[in-house]
Amino acid sequence: MRDAKHTRLLIIGSGPAGYTAAIYGARAMLAPILVCGIQPGGQLTITTDVENYPGFAEAVQGPWLMQQMQAQAAHVGTEIISDIITGVDFSTRPLRMKGDSGQLYTADTVIIATGAQAKWLGLASEEKFQGFGVSACATCDGFFYRDKEVLVVGGGNTAVEEALFLTNFAKSITLIHRRDALRCEKILEQRLLAHDKISVLWDSEIDEILGNANPPSVTGARVRSTKTGDTHEVRGDGIFIAIGHTPATELFTAQLKTRAGGYLVTDANSTATSIPGVYAAGDVTDDIYRQAITAAGMGCMAALEAEKFLAAQETGKRETKNREAGKRETKNREAGKRETEKQVAD
Ligand code: FAD
Ligand code: NAP
Repeated sequence: MRDAKHTRLLIIGSGPAGYTAAIYGARAMLAPILVCGIQPGGQLTITTDVENYPGFAEAVQGPWLMQQMQAQAAHVGTEIISDIITGVDFSTRPLRMKGDSGQLYTADTVIIATGAQAKWLGLASEEKFQGFGVSACATCDGFFYRDKEVLVVGGGNTAVEEALFLTNFAKSITLIHRRDALRCEKILEQRLLAHDKISVLWDSEIDEILGNANPPSVTGARVRSTKTGDTHEVRGDGIFIAIGHTPATELFTAQLKTRAGGYLVTDANSTATSIPGVYAAGDVTDDIYRQAITAAGMGCMAALEAEKFLAAQETGKRETKNREAGKRETKNREAGKRETEKQVAD
């Protein structure tokens, strides 16, 4: 086993939340270590145009944006390590983490920024057209479907909200759901069914995504009835898969509080988890916004909170030290007094 690598702040994850936490942590002179994980740069590295991250008049490419964040984090003093955290022990101080490389990391504070992954249908054609008409984020990609026909898959709150959001751009939206009843909130269902741009294909699932190879573009889907098995083709320029997300929290669920869906629980208006000194930022704790900018915002909050925690600990340590020094001084003074009294008596 190699020697443990110690840091005041360890960040797990290299998406917008992780890099932003690193930038703030490094500028607070915490000399953070950031462990990248299996997807250096996070989810934005698998997309093309990003048009809603502030600071750029024109669309930027997701992988490029993440390279910039990485460069900025390194520039201000973050140690960026290619490793995957495979085990954590938050029951001891310092906090302990083990890397896939065999490296043991110890830290006074930890920011968990391991993100989430959209669930996919698992079709080869879906993978082929990801970023070329197949998306898991209407907020991110809806804008590209102005006056186009789109398909949305799913029957939960996310799918229905995505379908309603897409009415701002698309000419028509077809929601494809595998059952004959939605699981979303009733009010959303009412809005969906009342909308004249939206139609629903009940008891249906996508069998194959159809499209052109060169340049890659989606033209529709072959849909199968879950009741009869019959198939037919449906036209669509874009397909939004909205069947849920899985936060990357497996490593932490035995030690930290989670809520429905496995997301890490944090205090209100804070990134503090149920263990002091451990913070969670970005999609790993967020089942509502799931945007690069909100993840970055939470990364900033987490680093500021970690800095405050460390400062309070150091003040506490200083006060204890001063108290102990004071006690020692009083004791010495009293001993001196006793000695003088003894000499006078002698
Ligand atoms: P992520 O980006 O998910 O990063 C998680 C990081 O954690 C990764 O680096 C991973 O390697 C690391 N990690 C995980 N487990 C471990 C481990 N055990 N050890 C070490 N590291 C670990 N948002 C927008 O605002 N605009 C868009 O246009 C946009 N487009 C999108 C397009 C697509 C196709 C997708 C999938 C998402 C899109 N999003 C967009 C959403 C956005 O990407 C996410 O909200 C954002 O990336 C979340 O950032 P994060 O830092 O929380 O996590
Ligand atoms: P969800 O509630 O789990 O719904 C997933 C939907 O996708 C279900 O309708 C499911 O069908 C369908 N589905 C799952 N796997 C599928 C597959 N392989 N093929 C086809 N369809 C599939 O997920 P979600 O909608 O993302 O919501 C997740 C959580 O976030 C929920 O707790 C939700 O309430 C919450 N949320 C809340 C809001 C809000 O409050 N405004 C907004 C978004 C999300 P079945 O119905 O047949 O299982």
